[in-house]
Amino acid sequence: MNAAQSLLHLLLPATCHACGSVLVGNERLLCLDCQLALAGSPMPAAGGNPTELLMYGRTGCKAAASAMRFTQQSTVQRVVHAMKFHGSAELCVAMGRDLGGTLLASGRFDTVEALVPVPLHWTRRLRRGYNQSLLLCQGIAQVMPRTIEDSVLRRARATAQQSLRSGSQREANVTAAFTVRHARRLEGRHVLLVDDVVTTGSTLAACVDALSTIPGITISIATLCIAI
Ligand SMILES: [Zn+2]
Repeated sequence: MNAAQSLLHLLLPATCHACGSVLVGNERLLCLDCQLALAGSPMPAAGGNPTELLMYGRTGCKAAASAMRFTQQSTVQRVVHAMKFHGSAELCVAMGRDLGGTLLASGRFDTVEALVPVPLHWTRRLRRGYNQSLLLCQGIAQVMPRTIEDSVLRRARATAQQSLRSGSQREANVTAAFTVRHARRLEGRHVLLVDDVVTTGSTLAACVDALSTIPGITISIATLCIAI
């Protein structure tokens, strides 16, 4: 930290992106309490984990996993909220590194060749300033070096915020919302589809439907957390 940064830090102390408490010592982005809370909500990445059970029957994906359990009023929920609505781009990348660590440790995603973020419609990306799933991919790539392909899968139309809808509404909301272009970039490759939260799985299933039109593609799925 240089002198100017130190002064700024003194005047405007950095706060935890999840709980808002002032960060001390070596804490970065999240306070120690929140880091411990996240570490206390892990999900298994072994075969038959809840994300895989949710997605496998619907998509025939090769493997699927999430790093954390998402519950209401939890630290995980506050982190996801900060990622989506508080402009915490750096936090998205840090969480991507955590997710990458989970995937790497499982040994089940070693043959993945490319990372594909679930796209936002451009109007929402413009409002938010970034796509949190793309930033998650950048974090994953820091621990699991793979190319990121974010130009193939497109969100063809803006859909209403999924979190405000019921299960059947979500399904209808995302149907045919995704299209594919430059398909040859992913032909014959094993891709990892990445999103922040999986709830009903309808968004991911719609993405898999679109990607499945690409010849020879193999699809796995990773999300930062699963709401169960
Ligand atoms: Zn905190």
